[in-house]
Amino acid sequence: ASSTGPLHMLFFPLMSPGHMIPMVDMARLFATRGVRSTIVTTPVNAANLGRTVDASAARGLPLSLHVIPFPDPAATGLAPGQENLSAVPTAHFNTFVMALFHFQPPLAALLRDLRPDALVSDSLFPWTAALALELGIPRLIFHGAGAFPLFVLSNLVNYLPLDPSTDSFTMNDLPHPIRLHRNGLPELVDNFFMLKLLGEAEAKSYGVVVNTFYDMEPSYVDYYKNKNHQGIKAWCVGPVSLLCRAAEERAKRGETPAERDRVLSWLDSKPAGSVVYVCFGSLCHFSGPQLKEIALGLEASGKAFVWVVRREAAEDAAAEAEWMPDGFEKGVEGRGLVVRGWAPQVEVLGHAAVGWFVTHCGWNSLQESVCAGVPMITWPLFHEQFINEALVVDVMGVGVRMWEGFRRNRLEEEKVLVRAEEVAAVVGRVVGGGGEEVEAMARKAREYGEAAGKAVEEGGATYEDVTALIQELEAKRKEGQKEK
Ligand code: UDP
Repeated sequence: ASSTGPLHMLFFPLMSPGHMIPMVDMARLFATRGVRSTIVTTPVNAANLGRTVDASAARGLPLSLHVIPFPDPAATGLAPGQENLSAVPTAHFNTFVMALFHFQPPLAALLRDLRPDALVSDSLFPWTAALALELGIPRLIFHGAGAFPLFVLSNLVNYLPLDPSTDSFTMNDLPHPIRLHRNGLPELVDNFFMLKLLGEAEAKSYGVVVNTFYDMEPSYVDYYKNKNHQGIKAWCVGPVSLLCRAAEERAKRGETPAERDRVLSWLDSKPAGSVVYVCFGSLCHFSGPQLKEIALGLEASGKAFVWVVRREAAEDAAAEAEWMPDGFEKGVEGRGLVVRGWAPQVEVLGHAAVGWFVTHCGWNSLQESVCAGVPMITWPLFHEQFINEALVVDVMGVGVRMWEGFRRNRLEEEKVLVRAEEVAAVVGRVVGGGGEEVEAMARKAREYGEAAGKAVEEGGATYEDVTALIQELEAKRKEGQKEK
């Protein structure tokens, strides 16, 4: 590691919005604390990040990008330019994950050259563990998930393999008993090859950085930090969106595309808490019929809404005609707004007009909602989202399920449609207030939002955890120098 000057951390995120956004925020967080932070990514992803990183660098933050090529399409089977999971069809998810192994040679060369004081690696690069160990660089794992799902997942081994006739089972040895359905388990649970690699990599790593804050999931942070079966060190550094992104987005406001301003100024005209924000993250693939049910349900709810439809579903006018109900946008004009592509989510959630969030329970979306003090209507789709739903609804008490039980609605295997009537019933019942129980959820959500703010302030739990990690890495560097 560099022997003088500020600490240097290298951040190597998985190329997927739900992992890159928080990891870049994290790099920026460490940069604000004086750490030289380098984000390693590929050309297409670097082009997307360029402006954000430049804006930070222009403010004097020691943040920079290092670009390495994406593995050759001839070796990976991916199309040229498919450098991000959000650009890859769901069926090619595994192809993408396997392509990541080809990053080994360029990353090894980079680590040898730069000798950073720490490598923050996405968990899906398990091979970085042996590499970092060999070079004496502490590897910190970033899973992109919170302490609750990580803890639940690490305990799942005690329940596997499940009897094939099992529909649902209850995990009784957690601080709260959690009921899960076998179909709600992450796809990774069936991938023994990858699970084994991830487990081995974790055992070789220095620790884990988690995008969460203590008061959001205290029992699980305690368990994860102290009683985790591997006893790995963990630091809570979140919510990273609160630390960095909102401020950065405000700074950028003047130069942003019309779309963001359109959404925010549309919200300006709406009463506080009256709008439901509907968005399913960066990877979901709803079928046409399901999109249509959502549209009809929002219309029938009678409530104001902002609905983000992923670019992929919205980009083809002919395909859109198949699911967009006739005259839909005209019919809901003034009350509902359809956003094709991307909304400035952190700012939308932070807008006073937004009262509820229909979410797929991606970890970042969940955190961002908590930060904004916005309660959730949960509609999990895949990965660890069914586990996150249990945290929101059963543990934190800041949300309601869009449907009860475990109806599978994962990616392209949408077997059961969620009907317009169901969407209308739940949205209609809770948005804009709906009795004592609903009010209590909204109140609790606001309290969590306040706690998130306190966690990141000087003296707050997150602030202190970040300080502790920096000090530990500095001590480690000194120790390394003594040994030389
Ligand atoms: N996001 C956004 N605008 C959108 C859709 C998504 O800003 O229209 C952001 C969202 O704020 C979050 C990330 O993309 O930070 C999605 O991550 P999450 O973990 O919620 O879900 P994933 O996309 O990984 O399924």
